[in-house]
Amino acid sequence: MTVSGATYRAVQATGPGMLELTRKPLVEPGPGQVRIRVEACGVCHSDAATVEGQFPIAWPRVPGHEAVGRIDAVGMNVAGWSVGQRVGVGFLGGSCGYCLSCRGGDLVNCRNQEFTGIQHDGGYAEIMLARASGLVAIPDDLSAEAAAPLLCAGLTTFSALRNSPAKAGDLVAIVGIGGLGHLAVQYARRMGFEVVAIGRGDKAAPFAAKLGAHHYIDSAAHDIGAAMQALGGASLVVVTASGGDVASLAIKGLGPRGRVIVLGASSDPVQAATTDLLFGGRSVEGALTGDPATGDATLRFSSLAGVEAMIETMPLERAPEAYAKMMAGQARFRIVLTMGNAS
Ligand SMILES: [Zn+2]
Ligand SMILES: [Zn+2]
Repeated sequence: MTVSGATYRAVQATGPGMLELTRKPLVEPGPGQVRIRVEACGVCHSDAATVEGQFPIAWPRVPGHEAVGRIDAVGMNVAGWSVGQRVGVGFLGGSCGYCLSCRGGDLVNCRNQEFTGIQHDGGYAEIMLARASGLVAIPDDLSAEAAAPLLCAGLTTFSALRNSPAKAGDLVAIVGIGGLGHLAVQYARRMGFEVVAIGRGDKAAPFAAKLGAHHYIDSAAHDIGAAMQALGGASLVVVTASGGDVASLAIKGLGPRGRVIVLGASSDPVQAATTDLLFGGRSVEGALTGDPATGDATLRFSSLAGVEAMIETMPLERAPEAYAKMMAGQARFRIVLTMGNAS
C-alpha cells in the first residue's frame, strides 16, 4: 500500500550497466516485512548480478545487499523486531520457515528465499523493505558505515572460518587480499589461527602483516601448494579470489583432513586429482554467505575483536561512480554509500 504523496530517493539499474537516481513512492511493509530507513549500503561485486543482468532481472531494480539502518515501520505477523531498532540486511533476503531446508535448520539454503537487490529492491536507497526473518542486529558501537560491509564481505568470510573444522593454532590460508580477503585475514588472526595470506606480487605483504598474517606467499613467484606444504600443510584454505584455477592450486597445499572453501563466484571448473582428495581425506566446498544468527555473531565479533573493513564513503547519488570504481578493481577495499541521515 502506498503512503500518499511520500517518496524517497533510490538508485536503480534500468538495463545492463545503467544506474540512475530516481524517486520512488513510499509503501507500507507487507506481512512478515519491516520497512527500513537506510543509513548506509556497501557496494559489493555481486551487485553486478543486478546491474549487468547476470541473474534474470526484472528492471528497474535497486541493487544493494549490505544495507544498515533503522526500522521505521513493522508489517503484520512480525515478532521480535520493533520500530527504531538498528538492523542490517545481507544478500539472503530471509528464509520462509516451512520448506525442508528451513525445517532442518539450514536457513542459507531455504528454497523460498529471495536475494536482496535481485528479486526485490535492495539498499541503494533511503528506504527499503525486508523480510524480518533475514534481519541482522547491529551493535550500538558500530557506525552504519562500518557495519555495512560486514553484512556480506564480513559474514561470508567469518561464517566460512567459524563453521570450518579448523581449530585454534591450525594453519589457515586466505587467498586474495581484497574486499573479502582483508576481512578474512583479520578474522582468522583473531580466531587464533596461524595465518597465511596469499596474494599476487609482493606489494601486499606489509599490508597483510598489518592485518595480522603470520606469513605471506606471493602467488606470482611461488607454487602456493608447495609453499603451504613447507609451512606444514593447511587445515583450511579460504579462497576469496574468483577463478577455479587458484582453488585447484590451493588443494595441493592442504594437510590431512584439510579443506578448501571457495567464496568467489566464477564459472571456471576446480580441478583436483582424486588421489589428492582421497589420500588424507581432503575436500573442496563452496559457501554462500551465512545465516542470520551467524550475521549477528559477525557483527558482535567484529565489534569485540576490533575487526574493521577499510572503507571509502560516497553519497547515494554517486552510486554509478562507486559501482564503476568497484568493477574496475579500484576500490580500497570497500565503498559504502551514505544517505546523509545517520542517527
Ligand atoms: Zn555481496
Ligand atoms: Zn525455507
